Amino acid sequence: MQPLTETDIRGAFINATADELEQMTIPGLHETIWNDREYLGWRDPQAARRGYIVLWMDDRPVGIVLRAAGGSLRPGIAAMCSFCHSPQPATQVRLFSAARAGDAGRNGNTIGSYICEDLACSILIRVAPPHLNPPSTIATRGQQLLERAQNFITDVMKTA
Ligand SMILES: [Zn+2]
Repeated sequence: MQPLTETDIRGAFINATADELEQMTIPGLHETIWNDREYLGWRDPQAARRGYIVLWMDDRPVGIVLRAAGGSLRPGIAAMCSFCHSPQPATQVRLFSAARAGDAGRNGNTIGSYICEDLACSILIRVAPPHLNPPSTIATRGQQLLERAQNFITDVMKTA
């Protein structure tokens, strides 16, 4: 993905309240390897349930605040992240909800999706050994991951 500055990130959120924006913890961007990411996602060390995703849509950075559901899926069963489609232990996938943009979200209208708990799908699709995960496979999975994440954000932007 194209790099984001802290200013880009702070200006990108479409469903955050003023309090959420004020309290948001920005990750260490100097450590970020932008070429190996489809989206920037992170959990907030100051707010256990909160997570953030920022990605590029039509040359514009767009960000959403997510809220993790309490509890995890039943341990022992397999689960799948709806963004990267990686099968994982259920404890590593979590239901996140996002308030819709605008009045709909302020009135409590949310949408949910099962996503990797650490919001690090981009790392997950790159961890398999190279013989199982050649660059062409990573490119395809990355493109699909980005499209699914963009589709979710498009849904968040719909106000009805
Ligand atoms: Zn994932």
